[in-house]
Amino acid sequence: MTILVKKNATEQQIKAVMEALGNIGLAGSLVQGETQKMIWIRGEETTKMDAIKALVNYEGVEKVNPVNEYYKIVSRKFNPDYSDVSTTKIIDVQGVKIGGSKPVIIAGPCTIFNYDQLLETAKAVKEAGADILRGGAYKPRTSPYSFQGLGEEGLKIMYKVGKEVGIPIITEVLDTRDVDIAAKYSDILQIGARNMQNFELLKEVGKQQNPVLLKRGGLEPTLENWLCCAEYIMIEGNQNIILCERGIPTRMSGEYSRNTLDFNIIKAAQEKTYLPIIVDPSHASGRRDMIEGLSKAALSMGVNGLMIEVMRDNEEQHIKYTVNGENEITGFCDYKQSLEAADFKKLMGCLKNMY
Ligand code: PEP
Ligand code: MN
Repeated sequence: MTILVKKNATEQQIKAVMEALGNIGLAGSLVQGETQKMIWIRGEETTKMDAIKALVNYEGVEKVNPVNEYYKIVSRKFNPDYSDVSTTKIIDVQGVKIGGSKPVIIAGPCTIFNYDQLLETAKAVKEAGADILRGGAYKPRTSPYSFQGLGEEGLKIMYKVGKEVGIPIITEVLDTRDVDIAAKYSDILQIGARNMQNFELLKEVGKQQNPVLLKRGGLEPTLENWLCCAEYIMIEGNQNIILCERGIPTRMSGEYSRNTLDFNIIKAAQEKTYLPIIVDPSHASGRRDMIEGLSKAALSMGVNGLMIEVMRDNEEQHIKYTVNGENEITGFCDYKQSLEAADFKKLMGCLKNMY
């Protein structure tokens, strides 16, 4: 059940409702939607329906509602100020506005290997016009023998490079135990496709302040599930969520590309939610030669940005890295799906007249 709070309800009135809930043995959390507030009743409520319904008589209460939908506060329906599908929430990241009229470009390497690699790439993408730098310090890898990322050391490199180059940074977090440290060193936290339905991780990123980029993926990457995952984050208090479509495996796609970029879901999601939506053509295709076409198609659908993997020009396929300065090892650079910096610059030139 939820209790919809009147727009002009005072703090005192809300407190009184919370206390009344406490008196019947239930706990309430105040959930702030973009345009409306509600109290979300946690705990076992089925035997207390009559007492809950009676709360409608409290001052400041608009309605007492059962939750009939799987998701609510991320929807346009619950946020009438965003009933026009051409509008989205605007999320400000260090002055970069995600969701405004100009799409944002996020670019950078798949993985952070060392300071020089990230610095050079960051300078190149910024010069070409990127707004935000990406880079992974915690990497979800198919094989346990593949490089798993530099962890905290990678976060520190990224923080330093972001400050030096003057560009906000986004990085992926895989584990609830790393959320605080990753949030401290970055501006946006990324939830990767494999973790879309990692509910404990979603709750944890919902409790911290950084905006969250939620990629679509997992076992059942339906629109409803994607938006439910955004709801998990928002109900914990974090309203700054960016959705990212990065393709899904389909029965036929493996023949010619890594995944299938699902343009249909972009349109459907734009109708259902007011959250900004961006597209990642790199992971969607796994092919650098497809990035330009997919980027143009995505921008023509009115998406709010693109996330593109970019590496240095003439990058070694096997990049050297050391963890805590020990044992030089080599890791694989994902060159098949990453653009070289010079090609990224060309791409930015091609996209210029599209926004
Ligand atoms: C990435 O952004 O490097 C990544 C691993 O993406 P995804 O979760 O979409 O596979
Ligand atoms: Mn990657």
